[in-house]
Amino acid sequence: MKSIYFDYAATSPLHPDVLDAMLPYLTGIFGNASSLHAYGREARNALNRSRDAIAKHLGCQSSEIIFTSGGTESNNLALFGVMQALGREKKHIITSQIEHHSVLHPCQELEKLGYEVTYLGVDSTGRVAVEDVANAIRPDTALISVMYGNNEVGTIQPIEQIGEIARKHQVLFHVDGVQALGKIPLHLSMLPVDLMSFSAHKIYGPKGVGALYVSKHVPIHAYQHGGKQERKRRGGTENVAGIVGFAKAVQDAVEELDARVADLKQLRQGMINKLKNELGPIGEHWVINGHPDHTLPHILNISLVGLDTETLLMNLDLEGIAAASGSACTSGSLEISHVLKAMHLPENVTLSAVRFSVGIGNSMEEIDTAAQKIATILKRTRM
Ligand SMILES: *Cc1c(COP(=O)(O)O)cnc(C)c1O
Repeated sequence: MKSIYFDYAATSPLHPDVLDAMLPYLTGIFGNASSLHAYGREARNALNRSRDAIAKHLGCQSSEIIFTSGGTESNNLALFGVMQALGREKKHIITSQIEHHSVLHPCQELEKLGYEVTYLGVDSTGRVAVEDVANAIRPDTALISVMYGNNEVGTIQPIEQIGEIARKHQVLFHVDGVQALGKIPLHLSMLPVDLMSFSAHKIYGPKGVGALYVSKHVPIHAYQHGGKQERKRRGGTENVAGIVGFAKAVQDAVEELDARVADLKQLRQGMINKLKNELGPIGEHWVINGHPDHTLPHILNISLVGLDTETLLMNLDLEGIAAASGSACTSGSLEISHVLKAMHLPENVTLSAVRFSVGIGNSMEEIDTAAQKIATILKRTRM
């Protein structure tokens, strides 16, 4: 049985071209980029080239890119790093209830340290209201953190409008851009955004590497202390091979953006069409969770009302189809998604939600197969 992978929002395989770019740095070129000798200089050159390439492709300056171990660390660095740099008078953060745990959990930790956090709600499509952001701003607000595109339901947030409000009130704005990179055109210096988080493994790069964009006027304190790497903003010997791979993945994602997005949209819409054929019109036996227009091209979250998430996922897995319950729970167990909870959907919708996320490896045949299997599972389990 050929297995089908529909969990690209959780992680993606390494692209062969990315592996090729990395290989020399996993074998012969092993120097520490901080060393002064030739070995070190070769690693340092690769690091500089990668930083320049990423900055060029994302529309910012090289000095505005801090390499990290991935999206989680970038989000932690943004939140702790900015709050610490701004000092104690500015103790208020605004975020949303549908952020990734790598934003929500640092916020909870900051609350334990005496900071105050407002967690904005969302509407039933998963969108934050721009007025809610404006109304939440206080004289002591330091930072707004709202994600670009949601990893569970795909909803895209009104980032430009939120950014303009932040600018007007001189509040810093951080965006978790992990799911947006490679899916939405980004030109960082043209966006009203001060910090943005990225991860390589969601765009066919290696796991364990990412970046935080920090606009040059933004004060930021190190979160991970050690050596003077990354202009003293992130200690630790740089993951040179990983960074080289990340740069290649960003280059491909940006250069092929239009073609990739067109394919992803076609696959997503194909899935919707096939499900309509197999299950009937939307609203009867199944619904789509998220926003109809403001959506990432690769994420489709649906509920087969009456069939619980775990049963569907287990049955799909038996058929060789990998989908997800929304977020990739580290425990491997299913918890009710905080995103769907925040959207206040009916309980039977929340309890039956499944996320399909497509990638450049998927074909329309796989979509056909999946839709048929879903219909079969639904018939079998409902009897
Ligand atoms: C995957 C993901 C992260 C975490 O990135 P890692 O590199 O896996 O730590 C953060 N935010 C969003 C929206 C994600 O999808």
